[in-house]
Amino acid sequence: MEIERVLLTQEQLQTRIAELGAALSADYADKTPVFIGVLKGAVHFFTDLTLQFPHPCQYDFIGASSYGDGTQSSGQVKLTKDVMTDLQGRHVIIVEDILDTGLTLRFVTDWLRSKGPASLKLCVLLDKPERRKAKLSADYIGFTIPNEFVVGYGLDYQELYRNLPYVGVLKP
Ligand code: 5GP
Repeated sequence: MEIERVLLTQEQLQTRIAELGAALSADYADKTPVFIGVLKGAVHFFTDLTLQFPHPCQYDFIGASSYGDGTQSSGQVKLTKDVMTDLQGRHVIIVEDILDTGLTLRFVTDWLRSKGPASLKLCVLLDKPERRKAKLSADYIGFTIPNEFVVGYGLDYQELYRNLPYVGVLKP
């Protein structure tokens, strides 16, 4: 497997993430939100995004996996790590790499909503609306992309390619 082409350059990613950070800064300036990153794919997006948020905030992480080792979702979502923060009455922003079928984020949002947050919003770097199965949309979206399997900037294929500084499409 190799990269067929670059879909989003490092520069495009950083420019758009700065815009998302500005939007979040305006909306959450006085709310001390809890940013919750979904492991492991959101790791780079999470760190770059939160560095663009200049107000008080907290971090936490949740682990969920739906993909096996391939490029198709298994449809089964597993919680692999829960959050440590008490979310009762808190303003939560879920930070995820990609919204595809929506099954993973449906599961994660239901799980976190049951913890009684004051508000719960979804921020995704990439949205692939063509493949949606769950009725779910994100509140903050970096890029809407076509239905192609992408890797890089946290996204993997068989646990590889996460460390590419750009988002690319794999050779079939
Ligand atoms: P969903 O449950 O919305 O179908 O998928 C969400 C998860 O599937 C993401 O967190 C991500 O791990 C994985 N995923 C979905 N589409 C892609 C893709 O194009 N590339 C990679 N590497 N992972 C994807």
